[in-house]
Amino acid sequence: MLKMANEGKKENKLQDNKLKEDKVIPKKDEIVAKSKKVDIVINEKKVDIVKKEKKIETIKKVLITEFGKRFFVRNVEQDFHTNFGVVSKKDLKSDASIIKTGNGTKLFAHKPAFIDLYSRIKRAPQIIPRKDIGIIIAETGIGRNSIVVEAGTGSGALCFMLANIVKKVFTYEIREDFFNIASENLKFLGLKNVVMNNKSIYDRIDEKKKDDKGKNDFPKDVDLVALDLPEPWLAVENANALLKSGGFLVSYSPTTPQVSDFVEKVKKIESLRYIKTVEVIMRDWEIDERKVRPMSASIGHSGFISFVRKV
Ligand code: SAH
Repeated sequence: MLKMANEGKKENKLQDNKLKEDKVIPKKDEIVAKSKKVDIVINEKKVDIVKKEKKIETIKKVLITEFGKRFFVRNVEQDFHTNFGVVSKKDLKSDASIIKTGNGTKLFAHKPAFIDLYSRIKRAPQIIPRKDIGIIIAETGIGRNSIVVEAGTGSGALCFMLANIVKKVFTYEIREDFFNIASENLKFLGLKNVVMNNKSIYDRIDEKKKDDKGKNDFPKDVDLVALDLPEPWLAVENANALLKSGGFLVSYSPTTPQVSDFVEKVKKIESLRYIKTVEVIMRDWEIDERKVRPMSASIGHSGFISFVRKV
């Protein structure tokens, strides 16, 4: 009951600030740890260590109240307690889209779509907001046949949204703690087309890996290199080497000196043509009968997005 009440509080906070995306983090008790011996590569050396493998419990059902408050159900084998009453496991397992709790409150129910799971990924560093991911997709035209390289992974917010629509994403994260968080998020989302690398994108990217089926598994003929890094100009040469002719390099930076240094670096490389830098400003609106107006919360700055094309 307490667990649900806390979840409710978080949900209310979200509704108070519509400009912010979900910041709800899967709870510790939803992640069951077990030990497993694994091989990992540190500084090119293979070492045996005993590493904790985490079993990630995914979401099976989403419940929504008439006022938009959401509950995420992981276990449909037992009744689910909310502060609006208990939902029986029979109802949780049924395909009904409208169900009632023990005290008669109406709840809407659906199976989780990608975006429901995505809204629940664990957050580490600042993520790229969806409005900025949208323009990266629309301006570069990436789709089901595209190969993408992306860095730094961070929590994987950009990486996973791209992976949901493209053929394959190779992602690079220098910090092991963030790499581990993103790896958990990847399992939670169940995406199978992401190759995660715990290494710097500034280093040479020329490893010739094979995947489980013996197929080549390294970035080649890349359609998009997307950077969200403190010093994106240091990755420009690597990006240029990876991109196919006609491919895009996109850099996302919160501050103007980063944009300036990135663009000046690009301009020095003949095969890269700088296109433009944009900022996306999104306003949420309040609709209440004839009271229709922008939300009063201030517009927050996220980042500048620079687009470059390889010729
Ligand atoms: N785009 C991510 C957030 C990235 S934050 C998201 O949407 O979730 C920037 C990340 O870059 C941090 O995680 C940082 O550790 C990583 N980073 C910094 N320098 C790097 C480098 N040289 N190579 C790879 N990752 C790097």
